[in-house]
Amino acid sequence: MDKKIVLLPGDGIGQEVIHSAKEILHAVAQEFKHTFTFESHDIGGTAVDLHGTPLPDSTVEACKKADAVLLGAVGGPKWDLNPSHLRPEKGLLGIRKELGLFANLRPIKGFKKLLPSSPLKQEVIEGSDLLIVRELTGGLYFGTPSERRENGNSVVDTLFYTRKEIERIVDKAFQAAMKRKKQLTSVDKANVLESSKLWREIVEEKKAAYPEVVVQHMLVDSTAMKLITNPSQFDVIVTENMFGDILSDEASVLTGSLGMLPSASLRDDGVGLYEPVHGSAPDIAGQGIANPLAMILSAALMLRYSFGLEEEAKLVEDAVQSILDEGYHTPDLKMESGVTVGTSEMTRLIADYI
Ligand code: ATP
Ligand code: MG
Repeated sequence: MDKKIVLLPGDGIGQEVIHSAKEILHAVAQEFKHTFTFESHDIGGTAVDLHGTPLPDSTVEACKKADAVLLGAVGGPKWDLNPSHLRPEKGLLGIRKELGLFANLRPIKGFKKLLPSSPLKQEVIEGSDLLIVRELTGGLYFGTPSERRENGNSVVDTLFYTRKEIERIVDKAFQAAMKRKKQLTSVDKANVLESSKLWREIVEEKKAAYPEVVVQHMLVDSTAMKLITNPSQFDVIVTENMFGDILSDEASVLTGSLGMLPSASLRDDGVGLYEPVHGSAPDIAGQGIANPLAMILSAALMLRYSFGLEEEAKLVEDAVQSILDEGYHTPDLKMESGVTVGTSEMTRLIADYI
């Protein structure tokens, strides 16, 4: 298989972990006889410094021609005082918009050997392996008008969704469930919100097209509770923009570190943007100790969701699991015992396994 991948390293540890993803993809290409070609472009603070904008046209054009995009991270204290149009984050929001990405997928898994980074009990976390599918382009964050009235004494935000917007995200979630344990939890607030009632209707309609998938509806407040009391009951969760934003941050504590969480942003045709959930981590940038696993697991998602290479994706995920099981970990991960390694050694261990 021949694929063109655009790399957007961005800022801080983004530059370091993107390197790791590339090395792992080289190993995969070699093992399975694929040809992956890479092209690097600037985004974020780095692009502000070099081109005077966080998202140069050349970057947008390259991404539009690519089969998939891998992004490191953007931002950092160097650009904190920039005017708003030069904020590194504008680059990230801009590229998601330019590519028309509407579905955000975040798999969250409790790895066996990793000690929790939160007060949650290890037994609770251990069996958890879920995927949150969040709608990315509608809902409260994009409602119009969002404004202050009566001299600032009243406010209005609008929660707006079209049938088409709900249908396409629900389809994505059903498709993702088909590749997993075939259990879908649709999360809403249908006892109160009209938008949630339509959401529920559409999920019910779509069910017929995916008869193998077991569907349940759950209210968002109850989901928030169950996510940290009994997370292993979930497989795929699908929900609207703001609920997904909140639930995915909540669920992120189920894994040992921010450095373990990958994400995918997708549209209909398979083109996608893949990035770790963590930021540019300026406090550890340049030290060679960043955990590359979130970025490597994001590359695995690319293999699965953009290229349909399930076996290859699985191999990368198994490699991560095995290397952790052997006790190797970066400093951000906590284990009872094991060997602490840096970014490049961790990457080499995984590449060698592949
Ligand atoms: P952003 O606003 O860009 O999301 P943030 O303020 O949420 O950034 P991060 O950059 O994600 O913060 O970092 C939060 C903390 O987690 C920092 O202490 C950072 O060092 C640590 N961290 C984040 N990613 C990693 C990683 N891959 N490996 C090790 N530590 C990490
Ligand atoms: Mg953050």
